[in-house]
Amino acid sequence: MGRYLSPKCRICRRIGAKLFLKGPRCYTDKCALARRPYAPGQHGRIRSKLSNYGLQLREKQKVKRMYGVLERQFRRYFQIAQRKKGVTGTVLLQLLECRLDNVVYQSGFATSRPQARQMVRHNWVYVNGKRVNIPSYLVKPGDEITFKNDDKVKKNLKDYKELSKKRPVPLWLVVDEDNFKIKVVRLPEREDMPADIKEQMIVELYSK
Ligand code: SF4
Repeated sequence: MGRYLSPKCRICRRIGAKLFLKGPRCYTDKCALARRPYAPGQHGRIRSKLSNYGLQLREKQKVKRMYGVLERQFRRYFQIAQRKKGVTGTVLLQLLECRLDNVVYQSGFATSRPQARQMVRHNWVYVNGKRVNIPSYLVKPGDEITFKNDDKVKKNLKDYKELSKKRPVPLWLVVDEDNFKIKVVRLPEREDMPADIKEQMIVELYSK
């Protein structure tokens, strides 16, 4: 499957928002967006006023890249959200939050979503005792996520958890740090998800 391979900080600078794609570095003054808060490239400093459509497009790109999802899959999530009961924008975010790579990231056992994705792809992650190496796998309430029983893996998980300790674990997940376990206690609600996302703009964009 294809995915974005361009430098991660360029993505943040293009979008103009911190997407936290590089783990601990994102929280330091080495963050590229903090140092150069303008778009990359020769004309990056030229400010142009975005149209309403431009703003909606940018919001969609922001969320897509934050969760590491490609256009086709993102649109599929939107179509599922439209069919489900509830507010489409919130359901869309709920689907993204329930991705297995995001759950590993939110638990603090990974320092960034790209790293969590790699851990899933490298067969480190188990759901209800079964190995799952699909980052887009959707977890549900009651699921228990564990990790490969390997000393090297456990040491890495400990290190990542230490590096992520400033990031609070959302209330819909319960983390057993000593036993490297994550329990999904309920579906995420809007207040559990990033506050700076304007999901209504994405709904408006796709509803045109
Ligand atoms: Fe984005 Fe992190 Fe790079 Fe800052 S350091 S620009 S938040 S990826």
